[in-house]
Amino acid sequence: MVLEIQNLSVSLAGTEIVSDINLTVSAGEVLMLLGPNGAGKSTLMKALAGELPYRGRIRLAGRELGGWCPGELARHRAIMPQSVEVNFPLTVEEVVALGRPAATRRCADSVAEILMEALEIKHLRHRLVPGLSGGEQQRLQLARVLGQIWDTRQDRLLLLDECTSALDPAHQQMVLELVGAMAREHGVAVLAIVHDLNLAAQFADRMVVMKSGRCFHEGGSSEVLTPSLLKAVYGYRTRVIQLPEGYPLVIPLASGSAQTAPLNPVCRQAS
Ligand code: ADP
Ligand code: MG
Repeated sequence: MVLEIQNLSVSLAGTEIVSDINLTVSAGEVLMLLGPNGAGKSTLMKALAGELPYRGRIRLAGRELGGWCPGELARHRAIMPQSVEVNFPLTVEEVVALGRPAATRRCADSVAEILMEALEIKHLRHRLVPGLSGGEQQRLQLARVLGQIWDTRQDRLLLLDECTSALDPAHQQMVLELVGAMAREHGVAVLAIVHDLNLAAQFADRMVVMKSGRCFHEGGSSEVLTPSLLKAVYGYRTRVIQLPEGYPLVIPLASGSAQTAPLNPVCRQAS
């Protein structure tokens, strides 16, 4: 098992944000983490990234996170946070190189070239990062984190917090196909937070749904993505169709409630 989380809880400013989470991710598996805004997904991710104190246990390849030295940990666990702001005038190729081992920075690095090619950012290599579009920046950050664990042979964990949120549909597919290949063909364990239920259905081996800091349900996509569960977790109505491809398709339905009523006085004033 690459990642084991036992009884994990995280408190911030005196409030428990994540409560008693238990989950595992094995080599070659893509586990998608779903749940409404504020459910505690990023907080859980930050605990796994070592950015927040926690109660409970987090083990990477059987060893407690605290038992790893930082350099070794960086070669086994890569994290793409929900947002990364690069305000320094670094170029695309310089940011990709930041994720690579120091020795590779002195000569032409074929891995950096492969990653820039795969993520379609090679043509941007001399551009300054602050001037890139949101989607270009997201592809760049993914290249950086993949480069970080690329040379490690086993026990690699990739943590992705909404890594497709700024991408157009074609790039969403491309990026998740690449992430899926890293898992299937190279044995990387992937824990990815996504909001798009249909992308999750297409690419997850398993799903965990969080609600109010807790694990609400865990299972395969057809088990998790049901109208009743989605109503209970997100409070919205859906129709779910099983596709011949073997995964479900979620279609949102109009809520049918008069949620717009509070806007009426504003609309009247404007007209
Ligand atoms: P998600 O990623 O699932 O949308 P987050 O993990 O970012 O949710 O946040 C979970 C909850 O914790 C939210 O209600 C958020 O406002 C709250 N929260 C996040 N950071 C802090 C903090 N530093 N102090 C207090 N509350 C926080
Ligand atoms: Mg989040």
